[in-house]
Amino acid sequence: MFESLSDRLSGVFDRLTKQGALSEDDVKTALREVRVALLEADVSLPVARSFVKSVQDKATGQAVTKSVTPGQQVVKIVHDELVNVLTGEGEPGHLKIDNPPAPILMVGLQGGGKTTTTAKLAKRLKEVNGKRVLMASLDVNRPAAMEQLAILGKQIEVDTLPIVPGQRPVDIAKRAKQQAAMGGYDVYMLDTAGRLSIDEELMAEVEAVRDVANPRETLLVVDGLTGQDAVHTAENFDERIGISGVILTRMDGDGRGGAALSMRAVTGKPIKYVGLGEKLDAIEEFHPERIAGRILG
Ligand code: GDP
Repeated sequence: MFESLSDRLSGVFDRLTKQGALSEDDVKTALREVRVALLEADVSLPVARSFVKSVQDKATGQAVTKSVTPGQQVVKIVHDELVNVLTGEGEPGHLKIDNPPAPILMVGLQGGGKTTTTAKLAKRLKEVNGKRVLMASLDVNRPAAMEQLAILGKQIEVDTLPIVPGQRPVDIAKRAKQQAAMGGYDVYMLDTAGRLSIDEELMAEVEAVRDVANPRETLLVVDGLTGQDAVHTAENFDERIGISGVILTRMDGDGRGGAALSMRAVTGKPIKYVGLGEKLDAIEEFHPERIAGRILG
């Protein structure tokens, strides 16, 4: 087990003599701990470095108030800066889905949780936002994946586009668009095919679908436990397809949440939701404070 960062920071400071202000040396000692803890939480090195630098600038010279120990004070500065970076621009959970039918493109690698998350989000849009949702699977190479979405749709009582064998992903996207318009749906969600890794064929396919659907939101679903791989995946998809937000899955696992910090810092894209389990209501809006708390331990 790791000793938590909060405890380590308090320890470092409580060994120092009480002074009127945080000195540069005090702050440097503490920030070494912060950097190690961030790396242990799977934050990438450049992100950890620049994070530490900004905390250093904020903490040096700060007056130590009487009510808290210097350790607690630095923990607070680190916490606030984590929340600051994680929050960034944009409202978590907010999706641009006015002007029906609004297309949402779901992208990501196979096994990241894309199909499950499509259903989770559809259920949420229906129950929380009162939207009529249509879901369509575009994974023509894996009939089982298309079946999976249909089964999930039945479970949550959300319509799925009927499966027509032999169609290409762009044909399915066009059919979904038509059906959504004719059927009076508010939103239609396109669950694109995943691959085990990023390849040209996958990207070309998703790109073609994007051009047909002209999505209002393009959400990348990635496994939050894969840390820096998740960040590379996001960079790749954003460069090629352009994503509007990220959904981090498996945040119910015991990862420390570092992927979220790197994701925000590297891609600049908002994390809109987090997946918290296999059940279809195990999704919630992203809360920066919760991840900050988790990284701090
Ligand atoms: P896809 O290949 O990206 O479409 O992935 P799936 O939606 O089929 O999900 C793969 C597995 O991950 C399934 O067993 C899901 O139940 C599971 N899964 C998806 N999201 C989460 C999550 O947030 N937490 C946990 N623990 N499991 C998840």
